Amino acid sequence: MLRTTDIRTYRKMLQNARTPDEAVMMEQLRAISQNIPALYLLLTVAIAALGSTLLGSAPDWLTIWLPAAFFGFATIRLLAWRKMHQVLIDPDKARHQLKRIEFGTMLLFLGMALWIWALLPYANPQERLHFSFFAAFTGASSTICGISRPRLVGVCLAMTLAVFCFLFFSMSERFFYLATAQIGITYFVFFMASLSYKSRLAQSVALLNRLDVENRRSSELADTNRSMALTDMLTGLPNRRSFFQDVDSSYGPKADKILPVIGLIDLDGFKPINDVFGHTAGDAVLVETARRLKQVLGDGASVSRLGGDEFAYILPASMSQEAVEEIGQQIVSAMNEPFSLPSKEVSRVSASIGYSSRSFPVQSARDLLEQADFALFRAKEQKVGRAMEFSASHAQTQMRGAVVHQALKKADLDVELRLVFQPIVNSTDGEMTRCEALARWDSPELGSVSPIEFVAIAEKAGMTQQLTQVVVRKALEQLHAWPDLKSMSVNLSAQDIICRETSDALVAMFLTMPESVRHRLVLEVTESSLLTDLEEARYNLMKFRFLGLKIAIDDFGTGYSSLRYLQELEFDIVKIDRSFGAALDSKARGLGLVATIQHLCRSLSIECIIEGIETQQQLEIARSAGCRYVQGFLYSPPIEAADLAPYLTGEKGFMSYREMLQQLPERDVA
Ligand code: C2E
Ligand code: MG
Ligand code: MG
Repeated sequence: MLRTTDIRTYRKMLQNARTPDEAVMMEQLRAISQNIPALYLLLTVAIAALGSTLLGSAPDWLTIWLPAAFFGFATIRLLAWRKMHQVLIDPDKARHQLKRIEFGTMLLFLGMALWIWALLPYANPQERLHFSFFAAFTGASSTICGISRPRLVGVCLAMTLAVFCFLFFSMSERFFYLATAQIGITYFVFFMASLSYKSRLAQSVALLNRLDVENRRSSELADTNRSMALTDMLTGLPNRRSFFQDVDSSYGPKADKILPVIGLIDLDGFKPINDVFGHTAGDAVLVETARRLKQVLGDGASVSRLGGDEFAYILPASMSQEAVEEIGQQIVSAMNEPFSLPSKEVSRVSASIGYSSRSFPVQSARDLLEQADFALFRAKEQKVGRAMEFSASHAQTQMRGAVVHQALKKADLDVELRLVFQPIVNSTDGEMTRCEALARWDSPELGSVSPIEFVAIAEKAGMTQQLTQVVVRKALEQLHAWPDLKSMSVNLSAQDIICRETSDALVAMFLTMPESVRHRLVLEVTESSLLTDLEEARYNLMKFRFLGLKIAIDDFGTGYSSLRYLQELEFDIVKIDRSFGAALDSKARGLGLVATIQHLCRSLSIECIIEGIETQQQLEIARSAGCRYVQGFLYSPPIEAADLAPYLTGEKGFMSYREMLQQLPERDVA
């Protein structure tokens, strides 16, 4: 069986050989070196046998001491052979060694010939027969041991034959003539066998060489595959899989030591570059981002691309806290530099960063990752283009999130979820023909939980499907009960409009309702929810529109406010975010923005509603910007169905703008 060391020696031999002949020569030496101990053993036995045949009749130095000297010599040589390994894998040394073997064999055979010649006078005819047997046997056994090298075989056979000729021809005995002739022919066959052995050996070496090359090529290929599986092809950075391996190995059982820091980076404004300038421009920005990140982080930290415009880095535990903070700032600054696009245009993106903290005990590296993720979420929420460390208040929110999540999982939403309705009023005549349905969750464990909190948690936990279905069903039921209401809107989560399963479930629900009901339902979606998968969102929204529902874009102005979305997705209604309503106090800027959006909507024949109008002054400015439909605390906060009903029956009414000016010039009206 082939041992691993043999394979290694073999591979080294093949690698070190500069020519095929050298490889064959080294293989010859390897084969011979394996047979040398056997050869010495055979010779020692044969010499001892021959010596003992003439023991007493020939002098002791010939029968005892010379064989003993050979035995000593053989032992020393065998010990020396053990150090052959280095010689085997060095072609020059191997060549030299083979020459030494050939020369040494020649001397050895010469010595044995002289020994036989010295013994001859003491031998009777029968003992001479033993001599011939010895010579023939020595020749044959050395042929077998050195068969891989014809030259060595040639030396052995020629020397043995010479002994035969020299010793036995002189005896003029017929038997020896014939024996010499037969030995000569046999040796010739031996020599030919050695030649063919060598050619087969050369073929095997060539074959093995090819196999070794192919083997190396396939192991190189395997290495490349492995590294490709861990590398992001666009940027050359380690990819998501590699990052998660690094995350796991960055943290060992060393809870009392300083923690490594994991940072997550998300580019702000990358998506519009892709949309506006195309994917080549997007790719160029990602490649340049990777370059800048590597430059900032240097060799001391690892940086990976997780996918899309998300990157991540790991800072070692040995890095000081100041350096950790400094790196966050440096990345933000580096990313604020303009990017030159392949089209020679210049564009800007910024980076939001969330990184883990060393101040909280963690169980595993995954906890650090979660911290970074949470901090990133907060960083993006507050202001784009900043680095944020996971903080105590984050930890608290995270804990609260876990509690709410647990309660939400157990909640019977049919019972615990109810709807409140906020009127949408035409400020010109005070007519309330529309409203927005907003969810309220009365948890038996936690009390009333704000939709801002539980919707975000449901989104993160992938639980919006049940939530939305309950809300939509209740809204449809209410619409059914209010035939005079012109329209009611409900909010959809980002996941609802990009998930085929949810949208199909909604479609099935809409189909159970008469057209007179479902045609009055408006679905509100936010801009950011479109960004995740525009195509899927477009497809699902199209299905809803096909059933006669209207689609509103909610919180308009907080995202990218892309004209492209407005036009391509054919929204029916735009709801200007309430932050604009609030901004109307600082007149000039707020007015300009709202007027522009209003103008845009008019030119695209889209209805426009402004949210968050709390004061008469805001209403005044909103109206001067062209807004008529208003939703805000000025008219009403979200109220129970029973409280809204009187406005529908006409028992109660909202004031028109004109009435408001006349009666309550400076007070909020409801
Ligand atoms: P939204 O869809 O933009 O809803 C309007 C939010 O603004 C409501 O908050 C409403 O109470 C508040 N609002 C209305 N007028 C004023 C005003 O004059 N001033 C101020 N400061 N706020 C005003 P609410 O009900 O807490 O809902 C918050 C958000 O939660 C909603 O924003 C919506 O994004 C989400 N949400 C509410 N219900 C649902 C739901 O059923 N499904 C989903 N997916 N999201 C929901
Ligand atoms: Mg809404
Ligand atoms: Mg809104």
